Amino acid sequence: MQQRTDLIGADVIVIGAGVIGLACALALLDSGRSVRVFEAGTVGCGSSHGNCGTITPSHAEPLAAPGAIVRALRWMLTPDAPLYLKPRLDPALWGWLGRFAARCNARDLHAATAAKAAILLASRQSLPDWIARHQLDCEFAATGIDYVFRDPAALAAFDRERQLLAGFGIVSTHIDGAAYQHEEPALRDGVAGVVRFSGDASLRPERYVAELARAVRAAGGTIIEQCEVQRVQVEKGGVRIDSSQGEHCAREVVLAAGAWSPRLARTLGIAMSLLGRAMQPGKGYSITYDRPSLAPRRPLALRERSVCVTAWDSGFRLGSTMEFSGYDSTLNRRRLDALERAAREYLHEPVGPVKREEWFGWRPMTFDDLPILGRVPGYERLWLATGHGMLGVSMSTASGQLIADLVCGRAPQIDPAPYRAERFA
Ligand SMILES: Cc1cc2nc3c(=O)[nH]c(=O)nc-3n(C[C@H](O)[C@H](O)[C@H](O)COP(=O)(O)OP(=O)(O)OC[C@H]3O[C@@H](n4cnc5c(N)ncnc54)[C@H](O)[C@@H]3O)c2cc1C
Repeated sequence: MQQRTDLIGADVIVIGAGVIGLACALALLDSGRSVRVFEAGTVGCGSSHGNCGTITPSHAEPLAAPGAIVRALRWMLTPDAPLYLKPRLDPALWGWLGRFAARCNARDLHAATAAKAAILLASRQSLPDWIARHQLDCEFAATGIDYVFRDPAALAAFDRERQLLAGFGIVSTHIDGAAYQHEEPALRDGVAGVVRFSGDASLRPERYVAELARAVRAAGGTIIEQCEVQRVQVEKGGVRIDSSQGEHCAREVVLAAGAWSPRLARTLGIAMSLLGRAMQPGKGYSITYDRPSLAPRRPLALRERSVCVTAWDSGFRLGSTMEFSGYDSTLNRRRLDALERAAREYLHEPVGPVKREEWFGWRPMTFDDLPILGRVPGYERLWLATGHGMLGVSMSTASGQLIADLVCGRAPQIDPAPYRAERFA
């Protein structure tokens, strides 16, 4: 009898206090639900910590595009290329890569771009409202982002992607290289041209997660840190979880454990093996410095090197690389050095006066490059909010809102169909 009361009395548990778990928690609290968040480490300690903080509808095109495999194979022969695949016998990884390769065609590219654009644009639109409503102090700047090209051929080749994005309302302007260097003194000579996405924006991601956590607590939510969820069991009337701090029950559970989601799913004792098929950790690196005196006015994508440069009042960050090396937690010196080398090609002041942090994060990568938002197939009370890949910050508010709408039984603002987990079943 005691057990039954417990299950009915509790409301929603969110697993994971990254940008996605916290956005879900806040949207659920705004919808009148009571929420507890369980976090294995500390708030924002995962991929949400040292990322580049860009808000980029301009990244709506998925990685799986025609030509991606040839480019990836070429990069594999270049030791410090932006993409690295650690050669190893891992059937899960090779299965994932096979499914990724099968999507490198025009039809899937178009469908995935449409679905990514929808959630990216919805999120970009709602983010300023969230920031104002919850007074999130996170250095948000709606400046747009500049894609910088030094190679005229790469600039010309980007035209196809620009046109595709424009078809989904993500517009850009071309700026001549010489004119750009006049307006942006941080850049070295040799800029062939720049594509500016004025609708993009940026924020300081570790501040954003800390502020989301503050807002969750202010709205009455509880965040329990150093509490690793070890097992989830669906029972009649609710969900029971075992954690390093004991057993807890709730009406519903949202699994938002980022790249760890497949690992946790394995322990659930329920049919969640689809996450293992769908996701791989995609390791990325960043270096954070104090702000240099000649920092770019807008975030930059250094296109030929796939390096992102973000300058805030409070600091300066270089970030990039996609490494498929499983859950390898070492900092690869070659990859970190490649960030600085790339910045030196483009910027007069490629690094800041003081280096504050060298960091890696595991992006939760799905092979179709779309997030997983919706019910666990076959389970009424178990929800997934994961698989945000390279764009979790950019998709955070719309993801939180969508999960809250679905959990509360409301009609969502965006069509939830492309993000359902059933696509992997
Ligand atoms: C180098 C780099 C640059 C990036 N730049 C950008 C960018 O500019 N813009 C953008 O939009 N995105 C960017 N991203 C991607 C973005 O960081 C991720 O998509 C996003 O952080 C994912 O958020 P999340 O909440 O799903 O995962 P995470 O932030 O990883 O959070 C998951 C949380 O779950 C916790 N957890 C795991 N297992 C358990 C368990 N068993 N019990 C309890 N808690 C658990 C973890 O400790 C972690 O805190 C970048 C990523 C990298 C690596």
